[in-house]
Amino acid sequence: MGAREVIRCGVLVIGAGPGGLAAAKGAREAGADRVIILERDTCAGGILNQCIHDGFGLIRYRKQLTGPEYAARAAAEAEEAGAEILTGHQVVRMKRISEDDVIEVIAVSASGLKTFNAGAVVLALGCRERTRGAISIPGSRPAGVFTAGVIQNFVNIRNVMPGHRVVILGSGDVGMIMARRLTLEGASVQVVAEILPEPAGLARNVSQCLYDYGIPILCSHTVSKIIGKRRIEAVEISEIDQNMKPIPGTEQIVECDALVLSVGLIPENEIAETAGVTLDPKTNGTVTDGYMQTDIPGIFSCGNSRRIMDLADFVSEQGELAGHNAVAYLTGSAMKAWDEARSTSMLKGYPVPDTVTCTLCPNGCQVRRIAASGEGEEDRYEGNQCPRGAAFAEQERHAPRRMLTTTVRGSSGKLIPVRTERPIAKEKIFEAMEKLRGLTVDRTEIRCGDTVATVVDADKSAVPVIATADVK
Ligand SMILES: Cc1cc2nc3c(=O)[nH]c(=O)nc-3n(C[C@H](O)[C@H](O)[C@H](O)COP(=O)(O)OP(=O)(O)OC[C@H]3O[C@@H](n4cnc5c(N)ncnc54)[C@H](O)[C@@H]3O)c2cc1C
Ligand code: SF4
Repeated sequence: MGAREVIRCGVLVIGAGPGGLAAAKGAREAGADRVIILERDTCAGGILNQCIHDGFGLIRYRKQLTGPEYAARAAAEAEEAGAEILTGHQVVRMKRISEDDVIEVIAVSASGLKTFNAGAVVLALGCRERTRGAISIPGSRPAGVFTAGVIQNFVNIRNVMPGHRVVILGSGDVGMIMARRLTLEGASVQVVAEILPEPAGLARNVSQCLYDYGIPILCSHTVSKIIGKRRIEAVEISEIDQNMKPIPGTEQIVECDALVLSVGLIPENEIAETAGVTLDPKTNGTVTDGYMQTDIPGIFSCGNSRRIMDLADFVSEQGELAGHNAVAYLTGSAMKAWDEARSTSMLKGYPVPDTVTCTLCPNGCQVRRIAASGEGEEDRYEGNQCPRGAAFAEQERHAPRRMLTTTVRGSSGKLIPVRTERPIAKEKIFEAMEKLRGLTVDRTEIRCGDTVATVVDADKSAVPVIATADVK
């Protein structure tokens, strides 16, 4: 049998999520001759393809984009910069060959095993969900217990509802986003139970995902028992003490037919381990220096495989820097340092009482109205970092508006992710959802930006509903 062909490149990126796509763009723009991205999935975009909600891109593109819109834009940028994206390529092994000064990467594809030799590699492998919450809960192991990411995939991609009365364990952003999504699709989210004294995710998501829909959250509480034989019928929820143990006598039974776990994300690093890259024993993230380089020279890491990050925008910024630094490593030029504080400045936990949480960007400013105290004076607002916060708080007082993101059925059976072209009156959201749930779009090919329906706003105007991804 002949030797396998070796495909050579300057920089090889593993993973085509926002981190990997930006790393490839950064590497090309820094002068790498050939940049290849290997992605195991059938398309680029990573986890963003199933995040059909908006809230992406405000920092990087100064636009409110949905996950699929952000992913398409990032993929187009990588390709325009000259990177090659090879989907359907799952990397299984990687090692540094010191004598040749190359990193050898082995991938499985439909056409068999392939070997790549790169001068530098950027790992952008993303993360997987923790399931520890379920394993440690006493009681039976009936059907109906899922992780939030799996539910996101079921509802947003496969058109499958996991249940109709749902309890969510964990108040990270993924859990809160899915609480809203399931509510929009007609489920009743009974409660979100959080073991910490405060919600774990962004204040912005507490406001726009839970408070907006009256979904109760119980902090310092956990699911202490799962009840049900074949299918989950209820959970027991208990308050916890300082040692995080359920307090006897505080148990309450909550009936449900689905339990959704949103108990954290773990960096995905099996491939990094095959090359001997040092991982943080607490987080499983790759250990890097400030230039995103691991302890194996020429192997860089970015995004969720290094440290779980709240915003795709920062993942992209970091990926671009890692790609630039991979080229700097090859050419001996100066690397750029990552400012860690930059990606950790957004408000988390409960919103401050008697304020409006500005949801226009991830900062989630807590805006307080100071009523005019005398004649000739005007109300003023404080707590907003930019003027948009005051305008938002004023609108919240009189006529709150929200962007609606959901899916509609295509005639092929595939779901089309959609959003309203502009925010609509909050009170019209469920009416719009009902119309869109009953709709089938009778077209064989849909392009991102196509209008597929209209919904009615409070002033009776018709608001276009547009596709947020190409669907064939
Ligand atoms: C449910 C959810 C909701 C979110 N909501 C928001 C939000 O509203 N706003 C926001 O800004 N951010 C949000 N985020 C965060 C944001 O999506 C992530 O931070 C970002 O997508 C991480 O990018 P990444 O490139 O590190 O990883 P990913 O997007 O996970 O990409 C990793 C890629 O690597 C590929 N891969 C892994 N292993 C291999 C292998 N061995 N071989 C080949 N390919 C491989 C995977 O298939 C995947 O495509 C959300 C995240 C989740 C999970
Ligand atoms: S006030 Fe400005 S900075 Fe603060 S959340 Fe709103 S848009 Fe963002």
